[in-house]
Amino acid sequence: MSESGAQMPNEQRPHISLRTTQTTHFGQGWVSGVASVLLGVLGLGAVFCFHFPSVLTMPQLRQLYPVPWIRALLHLVLIASFLLGAISVCLRYNKALGLTGITLTLMAWMLGGSSVAVNGELRDGPFLGLDWLLLNVIGYSAVFVPMERVFPLRPDQPIFRRQWRVDLIYFAISALIVQVMTILTLKPAMILFDWARNPRLTQLAKSLPFPIQFLLILVLSDLTQYWVHRLFHVIPVLWRFHAIHHSADVMDWLAGSRLHLVDAAVTRAISYVPMYILGFSESAIFAYVVWVVIQATFIHANVRWQFSWLRPVLVTPAFHHWHHSASSEAVDKNFAVHLPVLDWIFGSYYLPNRWPESYGIGGGPKVPEGFLGQFAHPFARAR
Ligand SMILES: [Zn+2]
Ligand SMILES: [Zn+2]
Repeated sequence: MSESGAQMPNEQRPHISLRTTQTTHFGQGWVSGVASVLLGVLGLGAVFCFHFPSVLTMPQLRQLYPVPWIRALLHLVLIASFLLGAISVCLRYNKALGLTGITLTLMAWMLGGSSVAVNGELRDGPFLGLDWLLLNVIGYSAVFVPMERVFPLRPDQPIFRRQWRVDLIYFAISALIVQVMTILTLKPAMILFDWARNPRLTQLAKSLPFPIQFLLILVLSDLTQYWVHRLFHVIPVLWRFHAIHHSADVMDWLAGSRLHLVDAAVTRAISYVPMYILGFSESAIFAYVVWVVIQATFIHANVRWQFSWLRPVLVTPAFHHWHHSASSEAVDKNFAVHLPVLDWIFGSYYLPNRWPESYGIGGGPKVPEGFLGQFAHPFARAR
């Protein structure tokens, strides 16, 4: 028998712990363990989507899936998750990550794996966008992770930086409740502003060329969004909700997901009002939604591009990083999401030729670090 076990320091003995008890450098089994868990969640999630398509998939997406391709991909994901889990178990003293990845894979296989049958009758009704979440995880990490690795503003900032889990919860929940968020965005305008619609005007807006409709939506939404955002900063009761978004002390594509549900719902619902009243075409509104989602994620990213030629026209990462800056000179600046000219007009433009040194909320009450604490924070009585 080897003597080495007896000489191992405590933290190096094989064990299972939910705390990170070992370094996370490459070669320590942490990266393979995290990748195994993420792929395991992806695989198991996809299997659940096959089992319960009516309640876990978006009706709009169901028709578009190339099912044989998804099955082939699912097969590869499950094999990769299992192998990475095994690698992590071999390399790492703390077996929790590797065993979790392997367990998720085995559960997915026991529930049918890549040959799982599509169960249940497809019907429309309440659903969780699990398929939407899985597509988002794949799409965003395929684009933004390599981008932030190759062109980082802060090269020392790891992908799995401090508080990445809490931001991933925001990312996951906003995708899962896509149906609720869509209703909360569209319904208030439809109920409260139906009287303001004029058939002639809506007909005119719909008949405009697509690029003009798109630009008009961009300008009107950002104008509305600018003032909603500014009010969220200056009215104390609203700031308690918006402070959650500013509590992130690192910037990357995932940090942008950290938005209190009330903040997200109110901002989107009010920004939709001009679009509803003017009645633009569905395709122009859809194109705008795709644009806002991509731009809102990109402006938080840990990328070093300054875009000096673009900065007067369009909101860039540097512009929005300054909105999140912890320095006093940048407080309550740069409210626009698309058009910096709005901040210039309303006197809140701030964009020096350097990057902020730190992010987060300088003074004031501290925001809790966990998701539930952050959800409850605005409702708690101010002390
Ligand atoms: Zn803000
Ligand atoms: Zn932000």
